Amino acid sequence: MFRIAVFTLCLLLATTQVVVADGAPPARIFSQTGISIGPDGKLLPPVVLDPEGRDDLTEHRFPLTGDHQLSLRTNLPGHRSADLRELAGVISRCYGFVATATGRPVEGDVLLYILSYERIPRAYSFRVELDGSDRWSQVRLAMVEPDAPLSGLAASSHLRRLIYGTLPHELGHQLIDSRPTVLHDVGSRPSHHTRWFTEGVCEWLAVEFSYQECPPHAWRILRDRHVDRVLHSPAIRERLTRWAQSGRLDAELENDLYGASLLVMRQWLQSRPLPELLEHLARTGGALDGPALQAYFENDTDLTWSDALDIAAREGRRLTAPRVTRR
Ligand SMILES: [Zn+2]
Repeated sequence: MFRIAVFTLCLLLATTQVVVADGAPPARIFSQTGISIGPDGKLLPPVVLDPEGRDDLTEHRFPLTGDHQLSLRTNLPGHRSADLRELAGVISRCYGFVATATGRPVEGDVLLYILSYERIPRAYSFRVELDGSDRWSQVRLAMVEPDAPLSGLAASSHLRRLIYGTLPHELGHQLIDSRPTVLHDVGSRPSHHTRWFTEGVCEWLAVEFSYQECPPHAWRILRDRHVDRVLHSPAIRERLTRWAQSGRLDAELENDLYGASLLVMRQWLQSRPLPELLEHLARTGGALDGPALQAYFENDTDLTWSDALDIAAREGRRLTAPRVTRR
């Protein structure tokens, strides 16, 4: 049996790469990669997807908050339009949720390709070049089984992970980057070691949005991220504050660091709401690096880092214990 990698979030990249051709407006390239690990532990070769090269897609547009809009481009048949409207509702609520939860307005439009496949590729890569004058801030692709619902727990797992997990997570990155927050890693430059904060906030947004829309999916994220045990591991605790964007970590360790970051940020956000915290950080000019942010955390929560990890570790156990459904 194949094991689908659970750290897909970190591999979905929306670039702002700009391509200029003579006399034409600059284009923007978006790419997304989904990986799977085969039974031999090796990455499966990706299927290359080119949705704009297809001639069987129809476009459905829906309003989002403000004057923003969602475009769904799909090869699903016309009789699925009610399902597409329902999906648009989830995405619209995601937009609103992330804006309220962060206290920062979401900018830009969303373009989502929904491609129906009899057999969904386990590993894929998708790249699309779009007119640079469009206002897309999120361009994503999801694959679905032909007759599966487009929202809720019964939706195709690829789409479910995208709308309840990836989208709130990536909108979180977009908003964190939209104003000064903390120093963050860029490419292969030396790390600022604030990743536990940025990824922790984005995972928190994904879990909270999932609780709101599809609670079983929230529990799946928590279980997949091993929150019951990650902060009981000395290796994870030691690694967390050295977690870097450019580090080449074992997939399991990388996945568990997302879980550990989520628990730490959950701890912090119990003492200070996220909009307030982001506002405070903006006032520092976004200049804090990892050690400064850790000191800020200790001062703000009145906990030592080590005590906070102990509390968060126990909370992780509680969150995934049988019959615990919320908080
Ligand atoms: Zn992320």
